[in-house]
Amino acid sequence: MKSVLIANRGEIAVRVARTCREMGIRTVAVYSDVDKNSLHVLEADQTVALGGSTPAESYLDQAKIIDAAKRTGADAIHPGYGFLSENAGFAERVEKSGLIWIGPPASAITKMGSKTEARALMIDAKVPVVPGTRGAVSNAQEAIEFAKKAGFPVLLKAAAGGGGKGMRVVRNEADLEAALGAAQREAKSAFGDDAVYVEKYLEEPKHIEVQIFADKHGNAIYLGERECSMQRRHQKIIEEAPSAAVSPELRKSMGETAVMAAKACGYANAGTCEFLLDKTGAYYFLEMNTRLQVEHPVTELVTGLDLVRLQIEVARGNKLPIKQEDVKLRGHAVEVRVYAEDVLGGFLPSTGKLSLWRPPSGPGLREDTGMYEGSEISRFYDPMISKLIAFGENREAAIDRMLRALSEYFIAGVMTNIGFCKFVLERDEFRSGNFDTGTIERILLPAYREYVENCEVQPDWLAAAIALANRQYYTDVTFFKRSMADVQSGWKTAGRAAALNNHG
Ligand code: ADP
Repeated sequence: MKSVLIANRGEIAVRVARTCREMGIRTVAVYSDVDKNSLHVLEADQTVALGGSTPAESYLDQAKIIDAAKRTGADAIHPGYGFLSENAGFAERVEKSGLIWIGPPASAITKMGSKTEARALMIDAKVPVVPGTRGAVSNAQEAIEFAKKAGFPVLLKAAAGGGGKGMRVVRNEADLEAALGAAQREAKSAFGDDAVYVEKYLEEPKHIEVQIFADKHGNAIYLGERECSMQRRHQKIIEEAPSAAVSPELRKSMGETAVMAAKACGYANAGTCEFLLDKTGAYYFLEMNTRLQVEHPVTELVTGLDLVRLQIEVARGNKLPIKQEDVKLRGHAVEVRVYAEDVLGGFLPSTGKLSLWRPPSGPGLREDTGMYEGSEISRFYDPMISKLIAFGENREAAIDRMLRALSEYFIAGVMTNIGFCKFVLERDEFRSGNFDTGTIERILLPAYREYVENCEVQPDWLAAAIALANRQYYTDVTFFKRSMADVQSGWKTAGRAAALNNHG
């Protein structure tokens, strides 16, 4: 494998290219019209324009991508995450074209692609799953029957789901029929499939996932867990490895279960088994993601492994270079997903230009991004600006380091969640490790709202705001107030912004 086409964009395309370069492998970037000046394009050895701006016209167009690989003489395709990464048809098409697919076999993607099929497979493999209907429900009556047996609340989920779409919590019988209809419509429009099934809704669980790796020779290992319970709208924002709630015994048990799940579907390459962990220490299989995950860096930092390199080695047909007993976890890693979004405005994306961008650096930090100062956050793609990862010898040290990093981070031009993440990391709910998937929405978001509302704007912030607004870094003072309040050390940041403004 001398050349890899990366069928993706943004930070993950840059991330994959970095390992390729270290391995002496040439990279081919593909891009949409919107992305012609993106970092992933500027950094690639060769580039191919796909045209169009929507994903359907570009990163999801299978024929265009395979054609680009052929034209540039690429030997393999790395799909990153999202887009075509979990599309079994594409994986098959890549291999039929004589290219190497850097991902799991199409058959495993298919088996794990439907949540209901994956659950059935796991039940047969004796892996614990959340209690639920065996398959999709065809009417409200079936859903009500299950809910009465299992007890409310229940969760309606799209079989083809992802990204929290088509998901609805139902707390009583009266609401079930309408919620089912709504979930089915949402599932149909998001995935082209209206199959919805019902699960028992676990109250206040943790989301813990296990990274697994398998080769094509029947070897499979687990690389510890990631704590992903800090979520908004069922989507992760802060991740850690390891989890403060997982003992060595539980780690081994979940790890072995994840390996069992991988073997049950004939897995190869990188994959993740997601579990819900309840307060009693019982855990349940949720789903398997058949790709590299967004939050893979925290695993890389605590294992010392390069997961993209392992993916390439496995795709080449090599055996896994390590055995389970060689996997040693060291220290602690925390990742914050820095988003361009309006936290208090419902976490809606905040589009615009990164007119000013000063990411942090220094000891123990890693930043994965696909942006640079001047980049545009467009409405076409996910508004993630970067992933900031801090490593420390233990959890306390990693959190302190992340707080230091977030206080150095400065962005103007779009609203970000930096201040909110900083607020979260400082709270006891986070520090104690004693949080669940609902802690943000139940406790931390209301607390943050109150904090911002009571945050007084100091006169020198206002002066800085006006200076910035004049330079069009901020559009108005309300925007500024919110952004500044977002950052706990408000006046210091304003001062720094004003200084940057004056000096260039
Ligand atoms: P998606 O594929 O849409 O991201 P997942 O099945 O991975 O959906 O679930 C995403 C999140 O939704 C979980 O991390 C958890 O917070 C919540 N969730 C999913 N299933 C349940 C359940 N049965 N009980 C409680 N929370 C759940």
